[in-house]
Amino acid sequence: LFISFEGPDGAGKTTVLEAVTKTVRAQLGDQLLVTREPGGNQISEAIRQIILNPENTEMDPRTEALLYAAARRQHLSETILPALKQNKVVLCDRYVDSSVAYQGAGRQIGEQAVYDMNTFATNGLLPDLTLYFDVPSEVGIARIKAHRQNDVDRLDQEALAFHKLVRAGYLRLRDADPERITTVDATQPLDTVIQTATDLVNRAIAS
Ligand code: C5P
Ligand code: MG
Repeated sequence: LFISFEGPDGAGKTTVLEAVTKTVRAQLGDQLLVTREPGGNQISEAIRQIILNPENTEMDPRTEALLYAAARRQHLSETILPALKQNKVVLCDRYVDSSVAYQGAGRQIGEQAVYDMNTFATNGLLPDLTLYFDVPSEVGIARIKAHRQNDVDRLDQEALAFHKLVRAGYLRLRDADPERITTVDATQPLDTVIQTATDLVNRAIAS
């Protein structure tokens, strides 16, 4: 069972994933794998260093999309696929939808093109379930400004307009594939969001 966690910045995705992990870990032990791209393998980490290196100011959005897809492929083949073969439950912080939303919609290089490139990278493997943590851009940005001082610089570059594009991309993905993508209203109190997400994950495990 493969479940991804998705959402724009400030949705609380990482906090919620940590809380869900605690509950599910108590039930599944090492039959649970929690992971995030680039996933800790050498090749993906090296690719990630290229993407994040502040000296690489001339990074073309298509280059960025290709590098994310390459890192994703390696993480998939080294980490996710072996776990799925062992029938583990895999919870992954971000996957293909992030690229479609951030590079495809946010950087405006085309959602279908980014989706198709990722279909090649993943050989078409999509999660069984995606929890999409939805938050209006103003709320997401306000949360990050309040809680993550070190992200403020990045936010200055990624303005409100960019966040709105990313969210719109996510909403189109959700509308195109409602069977896979379940929306969680991330404006609710944290406890409620955690409970909702835990219930959705547990229901998927039980089914
Ligand atoms: O998962 P997290 O919120 O920590 O992601 C950090 C940042 O990485 C995102 O806010 C986004 O700016 C960037 N990112 C991206 N394209 C992806 C995945 C992440 O631009 N495909
Ligand atoms: Mg996060």
